[in-house]
Amino acid sequence: MFNKFESLILNNMSKRVTIVGAGLVGSLLSIYLAKRGYKVNIVERRPDMRKVTISAGRSINLALSDRGWRGLEGVGIADEIKKIAIPMYGRIIHHKDSTTAYQPYGKEGQAIYSVSRAEINMKLMDLAEQKAGVKIDFDKRCTHIDRKTLEVCYEDNLSHNSETLSTDLVFGADGAFAASRLNMQLSSDRFEYNQHYIECGYKELIIPPGKNGEFLLEKNALHIWPRGSFMMIALPNTDGNFTCTLFLPFEARPDETFGRGERSFKNLKNSDQVKRFFEEEFPDAVALMPTLLQDFEHNPISSLVTVKCFPWVFDNKVALIGDAAHAIVPFYGQGMNCGFEDCVVLNELIDKHKENWDLILEEYQALRKPDADAIADLAVANFIEMRDKTADPKFLLQKKIEARFSQKHPEKWTPLYSMVTYSPHIRYSTALKEGARQQAIMDKIMNLPEIETMWDSEKVEQEMLRML
Ligand SMILES: Cc1cc2nc3c(=O)[nH]c(=O)nc-3n(C[C@H](O)[C@H](O)[C@H](O)COP(=O)(O)OP(=O)(O)OC[C@H]3O[C@@H](n4cnc5c(N)ncnc54)[C@H](O)[C@@H]3O)c2cc1C
Repeated sequence: MFNKFESLILNNMSKRVTIVGAGLVGSLLSIYLAKRGYKVNIVERRPDMRKVTISAGRSINLALSDRGWRGLEGVGIADEIKKIAIPMYGRIIHHKDSTTAYQPYGKEGQAIYSVSRAEINMKLMDLAEQKAGVKIDFDKRCTHIDRKTLEVCYEDNLSHNSETLSTDLVFGADGAFAASRLNMQLSSDRFEYNQHYIECGYKELIIPPGKNGEFLLEKNALHIWPRGSFMMIALPNTDGNFTCTLFLPFEARPDETFGRGERSFKNLKNSDQVKRFFEEEFPDAVALMPTLLQDFEHNPISSLVTVKCFPWVFDNKVALIGDAAHAIVPFYGQGMNCGFEDCVVLNELIDKHKENWDLILEEYQALRKPDADAIADLAVANFIEMRDKTADPKFLLQKKIEARFSQKHPEKWTPLYSMVTYSPHIRYSTALKEGARQQAIMDKIMNLPEIETMWDSEKVEQEMLRML
């Protein structure tokens, strides 16, 4: 810890910032800091994805929602990103018999937006370099951070030479498997670390556009094929493609929660099995997937991890941000949004504490840690909702009751999904608590006799008001 005098000197000279990782969060953070006059250097392990195609079979698209938009608006780049985003106003559920059902995400006009992860990353890097003067060094893998001397060591991927960068502040924005986090863990006493892999992995597949480039599914929706212990989703891309993601257990397990039936990646060993599986489970999609078998064979199966750790801040000079601090599973579509919100909070704290980084970073981790833990837990719970409950009539009835009540009493009830997705001023930790309170009420409401026929009655409404 620095004394007041040292802090003052440091505040005045803390102008050199090194960010490890030019992913989504590192790139956005660099814009925030460079716009404030900091001299920002990013060290990025990968080659420049604007010049080299990096990862075949990993064409992830992400749902960008209000927290993420707020992060982009904060540095005036939301309009640029909107150009590459497709609004999705609701979910389309695809049943096994190929019938579909539409569920709006929020009120009329509310949407989440599909963006290609690579496209938004490239755009953020362009904006960082061209508009904010950030320097990004590609093909440089961070190997060590010396938290005492504030030197960031990295190896050049091509020459294998080691180099060192002296800096005043370091942000580890190097993702779920961050080298920066491991470095801090190894040099800290009592570092808390927890990682949890869910039983499902995921594989990306594609639904290409039609002959004239048209979308072959409804463009402005997120498509879900919920099948209990597994599911497939599809999000639209600006070129008419849909990126499909199959979430499936790695192997069938005999326990209650996962692997009911024999559906697992392990049991899809050859083309015949893959073909049969898709024809049985996703008959309407398979007809639109001409390269299914090749894609299934070539594209990797990736795992999904939650990472919780503490602290995020070391000596008030090194801090973790984005997935490096809090990797979460993707089922609430919030990983990037949460990382962008980290940048918003940090920026507000820079104003509040007038560039006193001791105070900024302390408050940053105190505020963000409970929120990151909350969205991590909500994301795991939403997996069960998406794969299992979106096709369950009782669950759909509950959502209908909540939507009706919320419409009549908006000041008393904001549904959990809306709190997380459309209410950037409600903290994730508040949404988690409020969601649990609402669920306790809804459990009682759903147990009322004949709820199926009187769900929209005065009696149900009064009962909810009473319980609130
Ligand atoms: C299948 C899937 C779907 C998802 N869907 C959504 C969604 O719908 N909505 C949403 O908000 N989020 C979603 N996410 C989460 C989102 O992708 C992440 O939260 C987001 O990418 C985190 O950004 P980041 O910058 O922290 O990390 P990353 O994007 O992982 O970037 C880390 C960067 O650090 C670099 N790096 C790593 N190690 C080093 C090193 N040693 N030295 C230098 N550089 C290094 C990497 O090359 C990379 O460029 C999804 C994730 C997955 C896996």
